[in-house]
Amino acid sequence: MLSSPVESVAPSPPPVSPATGPCPLCGSTDAAPRCGAPDRFHGRKQPFRLARCRACSGVWLPDPPRPEEMFLHYDEEYHRAITQAGESDLFERWRRPRELISRHCRSGSLLDIGCSSGAFLSTLRGGDWKLHGIEMEPETAAKARLRTGAQVFVGDVMGAPFAEGAFDVITCFDLLEHVYDPRLFLARVHRWLKPGGILCAVMPNIESWEARLFGSYWYGLELPRHLFHFSPRSLRRLLTSLEFTERHLETNTSYAERSAGYVTAALLGGAGFQPPPPSAPRTPGIAWRGVRKLLRLTLVRPFSAVASLAGAGASMEIVFSKNAR
Ligand SMILES: [Zn+2]
Repeated sequence: MLSSPVESVAPSPPPVSPATGPCPLCGSTDAAPRCGAPDRFHGRKQPFRLARCRACSGVWLPDPPRPEEMFLHYDEEYHRAITQAGESDLFERWRRPRELISRHCRSGSLLDIGCSSGAFLSTLRGGDWKLHGIEMEPETAAKARLRTGAQVFVGDVMGAPFAEGAFDVITCFDLLEHVYDPRLFLARVHRWLKPGGILCAVMPNIESWEARLFGSYWYGLELPRHLFHFSPRSLRRLLTSLEFTERHLETNTSYAERSAGYVTAALLGGAGFQPPPPSAPRTPGIAWRGVRKLLRLTLVRPFSAVASLAGAGASMEIVFSKNAR
């Protein structure tokens, strides 16, 4: 099990079960328990256990909630937080993915899987794109259609009726870690892409410095909604085995503030205080905003910049192309 410096100052989760089963990403049976965590976003106590594959370094939740139970974990507060994050400072938020895509493709048919209310697609409206989306929630999909003009399929990816070779670009931002079978999901993406078409995706990096530093308090764990946790190594191995070629892989971003918030909440909880979980709406005061800005400038940004340079940033952004046959 990986140890973390902050685990020594905050209560640890219970030990994990050695029964993990084979790795769902590469099939290796050389897997070991890895530290798990409760749902810290909702401030819940039930621990979830993780396993790590020694062969490919993939990490997964061996005993995930059943799909019919997931509504308990994807509640209104969660959807509100996700939508707010996607909508804030719209063009700046999506500047980097648009830039990455434009390096490889500037027009054609684009599918955004997990398009939510169409925040990303809306930044492409009016360009030379034929826009498509997939969204599970009907009202959210209707919003996406209205604001982007995209054709949005409502439902699960596996039920979407797109033809083989239909897309030049497929995007999925902070999504792959949520799916029950990433190998099957990516095989479907591969089928829908034209030969040479690109997959552009973003997801947390389980082998980032922050993940190692914060351990079970790392914000990127997001249990039990994140069913898989990728590293550059595990993702490269998986995508290469599915006939994709790497065009770009970079790590960046920081979840340090949110992770530090989880550590603080655990310490306060241990001292008898119970701060509201991140799922509770709140507006930070002026004093805290000032402290936060100072910490960002002096600590978080320099740490994140060095981690990114070392290939150990908190989030991975990737572009892989479908091999031409
Ligand atoms: Zn594996």
